[in-house]
Formats: sequence, C-alpha cells, structure tokens
Amino acid sequence: MSELRYDPILGEYALIAPERLRRPDCYEERRNHKRKKRRACPFCEGKESLTPPEIFALRDNEPDTPGWKTRVVPNLYKAVKIEEPCRKSEEGIYTKWQGFGAHEVIIDTPRHLLRMDEWSFEEYFNWLFTMRARLNDLKNDLRLVHISLFKNHGHYAASTQPHPHTQLIALPDTPARELGQIRSEHRYFKEHGCSVYETVIRAEQKEKSRIVSESESFIALCPYASAFAFETVIYAKKAVSDLGRFDDEALKELAGILKKTVSSLYLQLGDFDFNITLNTPPLQKNFTTEAFFDDIPQIRRFGLRIVPRLFRLGGFELGSGIPINPLMPEEAASLLRES
Ligand SMILES: [Zn+2]
Repeated sequence: MSELRYDPILGEYALIAPERLRRPDCYEERRNHKRKKRRACPFCEGKESLTPPEIFALRDNEPDTPGWKTRVVPNLYKAVKIEEPCRKSEEGIYTKWQGFGAHEVIIDTPRHLLRMDEWSFEEYFNWLFTMRARLNDLKNDLRLVHISLFKNHGHYAASTQPHPHTQLIALPDTPARELGQIRSEHRYFKEHGCSVYETVIRAEQKEKSRIVSESESFIALCPYASAFAFETVIYAKKAVSDLGRFDDEALKELAGILKKTVSSLYLQLGDFDFNITLNTPPLQKNFTTEAFFDDIPQIRRFGLRIVPRLFRLGGFELGSGIPINPLMPEEAASLLRES
C-alpha cells in the first residue's frame, strides 16, 4: 500500500509507492533501453482484456472491445488507489495520507509506437477531449484536491511503456510546489490587480523573441527563465483557468497550436524524449486553499508545458532547485519558429 508522506523539513510530500517497482522494465538494463523486447502491448487495439475495465472511452460500441479512439483505464501499477480510505494520520512526529487518490492511464490512440508529430489533428483533439472529460468527472469527487495530468515519452522521461499514453494522478492535498506557485500568483493579483499570466503574455507579445507561435486564444513561447533547453509552454490568452473549462471550439484551436509546436520540436530535435505537464489549480476549497480559492478564475491561466529531456539533472539542480539550462530561450524560440 502506498503512502503520501509529508516531510516537515522540506515542507513537501513524497509519494512512497512500492507497487510501482513491479512495472515492466523497471529494472531493465539501462544501456539496452532502446532495444525493448516486444511483448504483447496491453494498450493496443484488440488487447483490451489485458487492462483493467475501462473508466472512459471515445467509442460508439461496447466497452473493453476494439473500435475506440482513446481509452482510460486504472493504472495497473497504481501509486494511489480510489478504494483506500481518504484519511490523514500521524506516525510519531510525522503525518501521512494512506495511499488514497486516483491513478489512471489515458491510452492516447490505438496506434502503437506513434511519434507525437505523426498524430493527426483528430488524435490531438481526442486526447485533449479525453483529458477534459476525466478532469471534469474527477472534480465531482470532493475528496480530491489536486490533479496532475502528465505524459512521459521515452526512457529519459521515465516512460516504461512505448505505446502513446498519458497519466493522471489525483491526490487529497495540494503539493507544496503548486501551493507556492498559486500563492505567488495570488499575491501578484492583489498587488497589481491583474493576473501575472496577463502581464507575461503582454510583455512577450511586445518583445517577440521568445514567441514560437500564436493563435487567437493561445500563445506558445519559450519561457524567459526556461529550466530546460527547448522548454515550451502554451498559455491561454483569455481568462480560462484549466482544461476542464474549454469548449470544443477552444479544444480544436489548442489541438492546432499544439500539433504545430510538437512538429517544430521534432524538426529541431529528431526523435526526442519529453514530458508534458498540464497546469491544473486546486480543485476544492479547504483549509489550505481557502485564502485564494475564489480568485482562481482571475489569477490562474491554463498552461501546457513541454519539457524535452535532452540532459540529465545533476547534484546542483537537486540540491539548489535551480536548473542549469545550456540554451538561451530566445535561441530555442528562433529555431522553433524557423522549423
Ligand atoms: Zn501498443
């Protein structure tokens, strides 16, 4: 059983999840990671019986049969479980949550070993549509306070499954980093009377050098203080705080700018490993979030971050929390605009 343990010195949680060790390839010889043994892929069409029953799917026919566009299933190697009681407990001087939460896998497409730049426009749209559906459904579970939506692609991005997939982990408390960020966004809003996203987007539009592309409602840019080479974020230009609040038209526009951005990254970097994360604000008003919760629609903007994993993190990054990025974001944006 997993535990979400709080470190009183760092002021941060760690998710201790022994189940995760049982994942396929977890201890496989690292140097041979490119030469994966071909075993039956549980995420391929026709192999639906190899996953737990689906929670959601884009399909017109019976659940757990072929004929789907996306499927969502519980993670077989769950870091947290929805069946666990949602209970915070003490262990001597420490506090922990007893492994409660949701851990789901979104199978992005039936097509195996597909590079993200080979996805069709419909595949991008279906992927965003599915994440929106899961996010809005889980918002109804009042025990869940935080949702992480993330995609690991490739060995250096911690993926152990080559079939295109995305994960969702929902927790009963807000991680320290998310809390720190939203408190700082709230402080900015109180001091300046507008969202920090609005200020940054306006400044970037004036400066131009870090913009990768723009559409009516979205902007793709390499952040001024990019932590990783070729790090790219897509922000909502209008006041929309999370993916769950977009209508289908906005999702189509987002699918378009995302497809274009991913294609530019592939043109520059070849077949690269990456993580994608979505910026989702706390879902429930509680003791920790009540100071800013009602202002979230004004202070937070939807954001999607693509982080190429070209270099490994070292001791300085681990100890100081300050990343070393060898590429100027202005240079990265210029290369991405050209491609
Ligand atoms: Zn597959």
